[in-house]
Amino acid sequence: MAVDIAVLGATGSIGTQTLDVVRQCLPNVRVRVLTGYGNLPKLAELIREFKPDMVCVKDEGTTRELEGFNLGPNRPEVVSGDDGLVHCAAENRSSIVVNALTGKAGLAPTLAAIRAGKDIALANKESLVTAGALIMTEAKKKGVRVTPIDSEHSAIWQCLQGNEGNEIEKIILTASGGPFRTWPFEQIENATAKDALKHPNWFMGPKITIDSATLMNKGLEYIEALWLFGVKPEQVEIVVHPQSIIHSMVQFTDGSVMAQMGLPDMRLPILYALTAPKRVRNDFPRMDFLSHNTLTFEKPDEERFPCLALAKKAITMGGTAPAVMNAVNEWAVGQFLQGKIKFYDISAIINHALKEYTVKPLNRADDVWEAEKWAGELVETCQL
Ligand code: NAD
Ligand code: MG
Repeated sequence: MAVDIAVLGATGSIGTQTLDVVRQCLPNVRVRVLTGYGNLPKLAELIREFKPDMVCVKDEGTTRELEGFNLGPNRPEVVSGDDGLVHCAAENRSSIVVNALTGKAGLAPTLAAIRAGKDIALANKESLVTAGALIMTEAKKKGVRVTPIDSEHSAIWQCLQGNEGNEIEKIILTASGGPFRTWPFEQIENATAKDALKHPNWFMGPKITIDSATLMNKGLEYIEALWLFGVKPEQVEIVVHPQSIIHSMVQFTDGSVMAQMGLPDMRLPILYALTAPKRVRNDFPRMDFLSHNTLTFEKPDEERFPCLALAKKAITMGGTAPAVMNAVNEWAVGQFLQGKIKFYDISAIINHALKEYTVKPLNRADDVWEAEKWAGELVETCQL
């Protein structure tokens, strides 16, 4: 039976790997909607190959620019901007939305897809960080599936299969430790964006790669796990596992620990998010235990990586605090990538924002937009 999907953020790291999974493993999946922000040559190439009915680009200028490319014989409807993204998430052609957008831009389409009654394969962890309560409540109300693409959460979810009704004692969320795992504080202090972009195990978009270097990525994933699996903060333990072979673990009440393992390859969690509980045959490289014969574990260092403690603080503050943390982090990562601020300025400004901010309850998406507006004003005036 054919399944129709929308891929939001199709030109990015997760977006292109999703399309690779469709191309290689899922002949019955039809890509009806594609969105991209930059990289129009890539988007045009994908339009020629997948022949979607609808496409979303950044703005009206980009829409006109796209017209100049060879889009093949089937010209899709082209929409643009934030409204276009929401339209693409909610239109009635697709039944599954893959949200591979980066950052806070992902939330409105996530909510729109759920409200339109669609299952959502979610890579955009920032949606859950900023509005986990709203997303999980809406998804339950609408009876839709929110399936994680993030490899750790896919691992946890896979460990839970067949264990419905069994209580979780603890989730063990693994972290690679990023490129600065072994660097002393003084060296990290002067690290450049180029240093931070050299991730040891994964090749990803620039924002998540910097988040991996600061360990904010693990902080975001900590919050993501709380919402997806309904556990308490004290039930999630973060363990650094530099080889990235165990993607995460679940310890049950009898003390038994289930782990999900495999080579670091995002195509596996993407494929599982689209087909679970069914497993689909593929030709992706297989794990060889004789060549990966050492698996090690370390405690994360919250002094060299203060973003981890800040994410824990934000979720403890509750309400709109994680939205403020996320927005300030996104801005600071952008500044660091442009060489405008130093590595530890990222955590310093998040710390400042959380101290200044008076938390509001989170009842509607508007509460998130207001918190993000507050964060935007703070970073405008902040002196580093
Ligand atoms: P990326 O930067 O490679 O791609 C992002 C995509 O979103 C691109 O298509 C871009 O054009 C689009 N986009 C960016 N900003 C936008 C905006 N404001 N409006 C509309 N479109 C916009 O990012 P990525 O690495 O693929 O990450 C995507 C999401 O998946 C992130 O939330 C990330 O945390 C998560 N994730 C990524 C990986 C990975 O291996 N890359 C692993 C786990 C989770
Ligand atoms: Mg991850």
